Amino acid sequence: MSLTLERPTPTPSRLVVDLAGGQPVRNPAAGLSCKHCGATYSLSPVHVCEQCWAPLEISYDEKLLAAVTREAIEAGPRNLWRYAALLPAGHDPATRVSLGAGCTPLRRSDRLAAELGMRSLWVKDDSANPTHSFKDRVVSVALSAAREYGFTTVACASTGNLAQAVAAHAASAGLRYVVLIPADLEPAKTVAAAVYGGSLVAVEGSYDDVNRLCSEIASEEEWAFVNVNVRPFYAEGSKTLGYEVAEQLGWRLPRQVVVPIASGSLLTKIDKAFTELGRIGLVEAEPYAVFGAQATGCSPVSTAFRDGTDDVSPVKPSTIAKSLAIGNPADGAYAVSVCRRTGGAVADVSDEEIVAGIRLLARTEGVFAETAGGVTVSCLRKLLAEGRLDPDAETVVYNTGDGLKTTDAVASVAVPAATIKPSYGAFCRAGLA
Ligand SMILES: *Cc1c(COP(=O)(O)O)cnc(C)c1O
Ligand SMILES: [Zn+2]
Repeated sequence: MSLTLERPTPTPSRLVVDLAGGQPVRNPAAGLSCKHCGATYSLSPVHVCEQCWAPLEISYDEKLLAAVTREAIEAGPRNLWRYAALLPAGHDPATRVSLGAGCTPLRRSDRLAAELGMRSLWVKDDSANPTHSFKDRVVSVALSAAREYGFTTVACASTGNLAQAVAAHAASAGLRYVVLIPADLEPAKTVAAAVYGGSLVAVEGSYDDVNRLCSEIASEEEWAFVNVNVRPFYAEGSKTLGYEVAEQLGWRLPRQVVVPIASGSLLTKIDKAFTELGRIGLVEAEPYAVFGAQATGCSPVSTAFRDGTDDVSPVKPSTIAKSLAIGNPADGAYAVSVCRRTGGAVADVSDEEIVAGIRLLARTEGVFAETAGGVTVSCLRKLLAEGRLDPDAETVVYNTGDGLKTTDAVASVAVPAATIKPSYGAFCRAGLA
């Protein structure tokens, strides 16, 4: 006997999580261009220039970008795909890969501002994404591209958050996946990357070892490595963290932003987004300064900035901020030049300062950030103390991940005020009444 399941017609509502949504739009991407020598290539899943081996970047048809309006974006779905007309993949809602990432809160942070002596401060809280880090944005775009180019296996080299984002999105789209991480990751991140049922591979080495291995695998297998061969598509997903802040501020740019740096991609793409919005007239093209944040235990970009050079020398990472622990950052030199060009700076903070930053944000704003957020908040404080960041100018700090992923970092200091027997007498004796 066969059962026929009656499927009720879904009634779309603003309250329903809109996983895809919106109308198909035209792909504005025109091709790929070399960030170093300017050589151009047709749009395809490749990432290095054949002439000079520098990274490739998506270039756009400026006419198509200029045709995008605030109204069209505002009428789109309540997720990153409202910006589909400014992205290089995922234009058809029917085939895009999406868990509904994006449209995360921009929190006005008056209590933190008061504590730091600032006038106007916001926290862009990307821990609110489906897998609790900003990596959901880049993965949604990268896997949409992978699917459009016909890949059936997707993969990545990850410091933790990327692995979970790839696993979750691939699972939801029915794509086969293999994600590779350093074996010494935080337990919560390992579990979170493994639970979706695909292949998680723990490599005995640093992230840079994992990355090298992935480049080798990528040259042998026909797989879409989100941060190797489809990296140009992946990277564009980070632009949405710039677009969203501008839209949430009422279509204008903040004066200062503080951004964590791992490979440097996120920082450079927030700059690309702000510049693009000004150029196509969606916001007034006003000046802004981009500040970078690193952990001292992995601070090659901060060091290059301080030394006044674009040469980012690789380091061997040793920090509790594992999601930022890339010793040889692919976009490090570009991140340095963005910070210099915009009048920003790069700072770095110790592991103790990272923990203090996590607690400061939690205590003042009720936001529990992962170690990367602790890096960013503490770098904000340091940049203010050094007089590099203007306390009177409107500032946005990016929290890119959830504290529940890195509880080990604060486990020794975030403890119960008392442990007591279940009686009122014991409660009173603990001195908490
Ligand atoms: C990956 C990551 C970043 C920064 O990434 P880039 O490689 O610089 O683009 C920042 N915060 C968290 C939590 C991350 O996982
Ligand atoms: Zn080139």
